[in-house]
Amino acid sequence: MNLRAETDFLLKKYNLKAKKSLGQNFLISEEIVNNIVEVAGVSNEDTIIEIGPGLGTLTSKLAENAKEVIAIELDDSMITVLTERFSLYDNVKLIHADVLKTDLKELIKDKSSVKVVANLPYYITTPIVMKLLEENLDIVQITVMVQKEVGERFTATPNGKEYGAITVSINYYTEPSIVIDVPRDNFDPVPDVDSCVVNLKVRKERVELKNEKNFFKVIKAAFSQRRKNIGNSLVGVGKSKQEVKEMLDTLKIDSNLRAENLSLENFAQIADYIS
Ligand code: SAM
Repeated sequence: MNLRAETDFLLKKYNLKAKKSLGQNFLISEEIVNNIVEVAGVSNEDTIIEIGPGLGTLTSKLAENAKEVIAIELDDSMITVLTERFSLYDNVKLIHADVLKTDLKELIKDKSSVKVVANLPYYITTPIVMKLLEENLDIVQITVMVQKEVGERFTATPNGKEYGAITVSINYYTEPSIVIDVPRDNFDPVPDVDSCVVNLKVRKERVELKNEKNFFKVIKAAFSQRRKNIGNSLVGVGKSKQEVKEMLDTLKIDSNLRAENLSLENFAQIADYIS
């Protein structure tokens, strides 16, 4: 049975409709499912965290290739489907929970080679990705389907309008790349947007910082007034206008630049100076 037919069959069998409020757009392309597993380099040594397994389409392919799949799903009706579908698998562990409220560190405490692979619910993409990164989990890679625009923001380079606070944060923790473009007709129901799969390779070594909190404070201040030059937008981050000018002169950063012109290293220099 192809995935479109399988998705239809499961929804009918369990008398379900996709819930928009939970971001339920099911993948119906076998090719994309196979590509995701391939670009994530899933092997039998890997433990996979899957967020939002839904009807289990990606889950079953992951389970064929990985050592173990820990699948976290919020929706009661999906859990009913998944419990039946994977009852005979000994390497699929279902967690019925909100991923944003789940203690992921505890879940993977004895595991090695942990990767996250998921078709994310789009209404909470950024909170999920930032949770995975900010909790400093012992994971090697995050391979996730996201809205195309979000993927472009994650992977943007300086000087463009896509480059923002989230780009700098993602680049601080990972090396991001877009690995698959996914047009909207690969989902049921068809969403209003196109998608892409991003690969976030978690950095073993990050840019060195004296104080991580200051780094994020500087990024937030600079991008929350992104039309202003940094000589102005950084006033208030513990500094007066004169102090900001002196700092930028010392660091040899032009105060007429805007946040979008600064590299991750520039933000690190500024944060270290303030610290
Ligand atoms: N993996 C399936 C697929 O590719 O066909 C479904 C992906 S669908 C885009 C997103 C899934 O995330 C849905 O099954 C939805 O119920 C689930 N979900 C939504 N919010 C969640 C949350 N806070 N925690 C865990 N799962 C959630």
